[in-house]
Amino acid sequence: MARNIGPVCRLCRREGMKLFLKGQRCLSASCAVDKRNFVPGEHGRDMRTRAKVIGYGLQLREKQKVKRIYGVLERQFRLYFQKAAKRKGITGELLLQFLELRLDNVVYRLGFATSRSQARQFVRHGHLTVNGRKVNIPSYLVKKGDEISIRQKSTKNPFILSSLEEVAGRGVPSWLNLDKAGLKGQIVELPRRDEIAIPIEESLVVELYSK
Ligand code: SF4
Repeated sequence: MARNIGPVCRLCRREGMKLFLKGQRCLSASCAVDKRNFVPGEHGRDMRTRAKVIGYGLQLREKQKVKRIYGVLERQFRLYFQKAAKRKGITGELLLQFLELRLDNVVYRLGFATSRSQARQFVRHGHLTVNGRKVNIPSYLVKKGDEISIRQKSTKNPFILSSLEEVAGRGVPSWLNLDKAGLKGQIVELPRRDEIAIPIEESLVVELYSK
């Protein structure tokens, strides 16, 4: 499955904000946005004062942010948008709901991984089950009532166990129920917009794709 394999801190610097792509490092003094908050590239330092972005540029940057936060490439992102646009409801919110219900995101939200990219790796390596069946597709969309568990043979995986400890302070969103001792979680509700904590104006993404 295609994914972005370039240096991820550059993505945050390009957007001028923390996108939290590297787990605990994002909260440390090593974060590149804290240390070098200017656009990457040869002339990045000359652009310390960012030009005000408006119109199409603003919509484009907002779309890039969402894609980068969830680690989704353009083609798949557009498919999520098309599915959201076909459903009844607010397209921007439905788009975010699809992204939140990806298995890799749910594994991250439950705290089994410190970042979405680590969660994706855990899924790819077969450490997860959905309703008792092994699923190794990070983009797999979970549904209300689904139970996501660490596979029996992976319950002693030190990376998963340390992730749970490291991200304990982050908390689990109210639409998920975590059984930390049992290394499993359940989708109790579909996520509402006010339960999706990302600093994004999704309406700008809808405007961009609706042209
Ligand atoms: Fe972004 Fe995290 Fe890198 Fe900071 S450490 S620039 S938040 S990926």
